Amino acid sequence: MSNIVEKDLNTIWHPYTQMKTADKPIAIVKGEGVYLFTETGEKIIDAVSSWWVNIHGHSHPYIAQKVFEQLQTLEHVIFAGFTHPQAVNLAENLLSIIPKNQAKIFFSDNGSTAVEVAIKMCLQFWNNKAEKRTKILAFNNAYHGDTFGAMAVSGRSAFTAPFDTLLFDVEFIDLPNEENISYLKSQISKHKSQLACFIFEPLVQGAGGMLMYEAKYLDELIKHCRNENVLTIADEVMTGFGRTGKLFASDHLLNKADLMCFSKGLTGGTMPLGITSCTQEIYDAFLSDDKLKTLFHGHSFTANPVACAAANASFDILMQAETQQNLDRISAKHAQFLEQIKLHPRVKKSRQCGTIVVLEWNVEGTSYFNNIRDTLYNHFLSKGIILRPLGNIIYIMPPYCISNDDLDYIYNEIKAALNKF
Ligand SMILES: *Cc1c(COP(=O)(O)O)cnc(C)c1O
Repeated sequence: MSNIVEKDLNTIWHPYTQMKTADKPIAIVKGEGVYLFTETGEKIIDAVSSWWVNIHGHSHPYIAQKVFEQLQTLEHVIFAGFTHPQAVNLAENLLSIIPKNQAKIFFSDNGSTAVEVAIKMCLQFWNNKAEKRTKILAFNNAYHGDTFGAMAVSGRSAFTAPFDTLLFDVEFIDLPNEENISYLKSQISKHKSQLACFIFEPLVQGAGGMLMYEAKYLDELIKHCRNENVLTIADEVMTGFGRTGKLFASDHLLNKADLMCFSKGLTGGTMPLGITSCTQEIYDAFLSDDKLKTLFHGHSFTANPVACAAANASFDILMQAETQQNLDRISAKHAQFLEQIKLHPRVKKSRQCGTIVVLEWNVEGTSYFNNIRDTLYNHFLSKGIILRPLGNIIYIMPPYCISNDDLDYIYNEIKAALNKF
């Protein structure tokens, strides 16, 4: 065993890992583009963008340069009573590409905190208006993060089970479709006087199993919420920054949410950073001579200048024409791949949204803890690819710089595995 791994096993507790039975971690010492390099020099394709965060490839030289320059200029400053150019640039950059109804930017550190802030903004919005509204609406199978508020608005699952009795009450509804849309609207109308907000992952539910649903029904729900005076939160933590083929999943919609949450791709996968944006109306509800109407929320590292510098650099790359070409190229390649495998007897279901392609392995049971998960995970690792199935659900979510050759290599290994397992 290597020195790094041995020391790791002595000292570290890893996320989402049963430390008793887990395989030893693999030590990664270098990243370049879509590749990760192990300490023994093996090259692995990062086909899940390192938990969905990496959009432009690892150790991107342009982002690295901007981070380096920022570290030599200003590493951090308290963000209450002070500001700095990187935060202001980032706010302007983001507001220039997210839906036009978004007016203000609030910083935090990660996706879960971006969601916490959005929920708190909605609850306090009604509180500040002296309206008693404390219920939140969310989708079954939703995933919005691991802190308590974010867990509460996530579907109840094995992940939340030890805490379920402590999670606040949430009204859960199914994903919308042609059949149930009228019923879902009637549920919203029924509870509207208590509903503070409706939170959703637009178009794709990530951790819940890469479940996809049609933009037009979400559009109807958002519109209905607006008519019924219920606030809406688009959690774009996973779908933001090109994942769905457009810059944001909300760009597939006509009706826009009141609040939006961002994190994963925000810094190109370089540094932790979260953002919650909101409309002028939400912001205005906190303006008062009464200090008690203040949003009392903040983190030590709010708007960290180095993280903001990484996000601004990532923004520059995102806005290059080449990035949109890559999104179109990957989407088209994924679609061709789906055509080739969708009728395979081992494929139970398949689907795609932009750069995310998904297939469900046809095995008994669909649980996250399905044995096929470990078999496939280890098999693909042995082929030099990180694919991290959610139970029997395999998905590819690559950095946008992935080459056609590397995509073909992944597709071919999946096809071979379909015949083997
Ligand atoms: C990952 C994720 C989160 C949580 O983000 P973290 O940075 O892991 O806390 C929230 N919402 C969605 C949709 C996510 O995919």
